[in-house]
Amino acid sequence: MAKQKKIVKTIKINADLCNGCRACEMICSAFHALPKYSSNNPARARIRVVRHPLDDIYVPVYAGESAGAECAGRDKYIIDGKEYDECAFCRSPCPSRDDFKEPDSGLPLKCDMCEGEDEPLCVKWCITDALVMEEREEEVEVGVQQEELNIGLESLIEKHGIQKIMDAIARMSSSKDSR
Ligand code: SF4
Ligand code: SF4
Repeated sequence: MAKQKKIVKTIKINADLCNGCRACEMICSAFHALPKYSSNNPARARIRVVRHPLDDIYVPVYAGESAGAECAGRDKYIIDGKEYDECAFCRSPCPSRDDFKEPDSGLPLKCDMCEGEDEPLCVKWCITDALVMEEREEEVEVGVQQEELNIGLESLIEKHGIQKIMDAIARMSSSKDSR
């Protein structure tokens, strides 16, 4: 199978440095508003800060792959004696909760590393350096990437129906055309 070099971007999260300011949520939601920067709704952000101000605990969590179905089992974390809600740190938009879903359409959200920008905006806006971007080069098999794309599209269509996906794409293109 053909191999190709690709740059892998990682955002390193140091939760000890996070002060819970939520600037990352704000800028992410504004960047992904349609038209861009026209509104600011943290429910649209691809990052969410789990906040416990009384314990001075803040944990940024990024939106990852959408889950087609709820997990059969749940996770519960206890850190420094504090027990967190079930699935508190899960990255997946999932049928069991509203996190990481586009508020208007209900479609799942996923961090796209601020496609088109030199640096992820949440990293740029995080003044405490709780979020830091790192880059490395990796060799990947081209066929595998295409296969992953096909699986992602199929599961989105299965879950939301082709019409809803087409409507969302049409909305995105008309917004781009009007810029
Ligand atoms: S911008 Fe940085 S410090 Fe503020 S909530 Fe986000 S990760 Fe935490
Ligand atoms: S990298 Fe961009 S898309 Fe991802 S959470 Fe940060 S601001 Fe949002």
